[in-house]
Amino acid sequence: MPGSEPAAHCYCGHQFGQFAGQLGDGAACYLGEVKVPPGQDPELLRENPSGRWEIQVKGAGLTPYSRQADGRKVLRSSIREFLCSEAMFFLGVPTTRAGSVVTSDSRVIRDVYYNGHPSNERCSVVLRIAPTFISRFGSFEIFKPADEFTGRQGPSYGRDEIRGQMMDYVIEVFYPEIQQNYPDRVERNVAFFREVVLRTARLVAQWQCVGFCHGVLNTDNMSILGLTLDYGPYGFMDRFDPDFICNASDNSGRYSYQAQPAICRWNLVKLAEALAPELPPDRAEAVLDEYMDLYNSFYLENMRKKLGLLKKEDPEDEILITKLLQTMHNTGADFTNTFRSLSQISCPTEGDGEGEEDCVKKATDLLMEQCASLEELKAANKPTMDPRELAMLLSMAQSNPMLFQMISDRATIARQLERLSKLKDLMETSQDELKTKQAEEWTCWITQYRKRLAYELEGQSDVQAVQEERVRVMDSTNPRVVLRNYIAQNAIEAAENGDFSEVRFWSAVNFLLGLELPAWVGGARNPVPYDSKPPAWAREICVT
Ligand code: AMP
Ligand code: MG
Ligand code: MG
Repeated sequence: MPGSEPAAHCYCGHQFGQFAGQLGDGAACYLGEVKVPPGQDPELLRENPSGRWEIQVKGAGLTPYSRQADGRKVLRSSIREFLCSEAMFFLGVPTTRAGSVVTSDSRVIRDVYYNGHPSNERCSVVLRIAPTFISRFGSFEIFKPADEFTGRQGPSYGRDEIRGQMMDYVIEVFYPEIQQNYPDRVERNVAFFREVVLRTARLVAQWQCVGFCHGVLNTDNMSILGLTLDYGPYGFMDRFDPDFICNASDNSGRYSYQAQPAICRWNLVKLAEALAPELPPDRAEAVLDEYMDLYNSFYLENMRKKLGLLKKEDPEDEILITKLLQTMHNTGADFTNTFRSLSQISCPTEGDGEGEEDCVKKATDLLMEQCASLEELKAANKPTMDPRELAMLLSMAQSNPMLFQMISDRATIARQLERLSKLKDLMETSQDELKTKQAEEWTCWITQYRKRLAYELEGQSDVQAVQEERVRVMDSTNPRVVLRNYIAQNAIEAAENGDFSEVRFWSAVNFLLGLELPAWVGGARNPVPYDSKPPAWAREICVT
């Protein structure tokens, strides 16, 4: 572009727990920055106090760091990134943005089979926008001593100077308040690290609350600004499963849904190590000790809103939430739609003549609609490992634990065995028995939930107002539509055939239906496109 000085940014990273040396950015290229003109939307400045937005293209071709690859991205990965970054933004989750996606006539062959054929796919370029992209945890890992590199080496001299400059830049530009308030360099750096820890904890809590699984939480995909970064094989959960793994190459489940909070802490430890000369390790450790409490309080705060528990805090709320998730897991309930349904459960005092039993029955029927069928549960619990391989690993775990540890881990085997035993139970269950059991579980939870709602209303003079506020907060916290894999897949398949209407339509859906549905679109209770559970074909979509 006229006046632009394109540049690529090299960074390092820990991938799947191993330091991978220098690995990026062979596919993305910085074009320049756009400054927010004075007098513009103050919201933009709150989000990004620097007032500038970095523009980069991803998939536009070779950069100095492309190595043996081509710097191109294929249509399906670009569309997935484009759709999800915008979907996250409209869900209120901090994220890098996507301004456009442009598809080219040129094709590349990737070494994956796609739809049963060796891929020969159209290239696409995403225009990405963020306050900055040189702010990955991995951007700081590039300063590790040269002998720790396994891949190509970064600069062999001046590491400490450049690290200092990078920190000055990031803090001055993106954390101006910290720069002003901490004249002492070490204290400034500690405050900066504390802010990164806080933002990371808040971000993961938001992911957990919308059922988002990032899929590749390597340190190079973590942002110093607390943004969701790099949309690869991410996935929104359909049926709730704490072990949900969205990345087909994540065999061990390192990046499963329930592992995300702890994995992000692990990544923060790696960041602290990379900053070590500037950040005393004992100070970093003290800050890291705050992480889990921070995460838990963000999570609890968010979950209370999702359940409409706004007026009081009950120490038992955590148990109520855990039991909700357990019930969802046991009954194979749809994550998004179950939460969305909760605002329709009435409070005990609402008394429009209905007795307690009728109300609970009505609520149970509502939630039963979100439960999985016997067939779905059987399919979901089929062990992914070949039974012969499983048997071999089991016998090896007993006879030769050392060898076993080299080729597999206990958690993977435990998960497979758990699936197997669930499958066995399901084989001996009829559809009717399953339904009865699911209904019992939900009735039990709903009864507890309604007790908690009654407590919520105790001492309130304007019960009606409290009820209305509860429904309003719940409906604006529990999204009715998320970018389910089947939606992305539909849009991609249409686009591969030259039809971009689904991609455009989803962009419009983001605006209109993200959270609160404007009355003119049809009122909050009418069905909308894309708010249903995935069709059967889409349950096993596998993304790498
Ligand atoms: P990712 O796995 O998407 O996080 O990418 C990590 C790094 O791999 C990028 O920063 C690039 O350096 C490199 N990379 C990924 N895809 C390509 C590509 N098509 N061409 C060149 N480098 C790539
Ligand atoms: Mg990446
Ligand atoms: Mg990626």
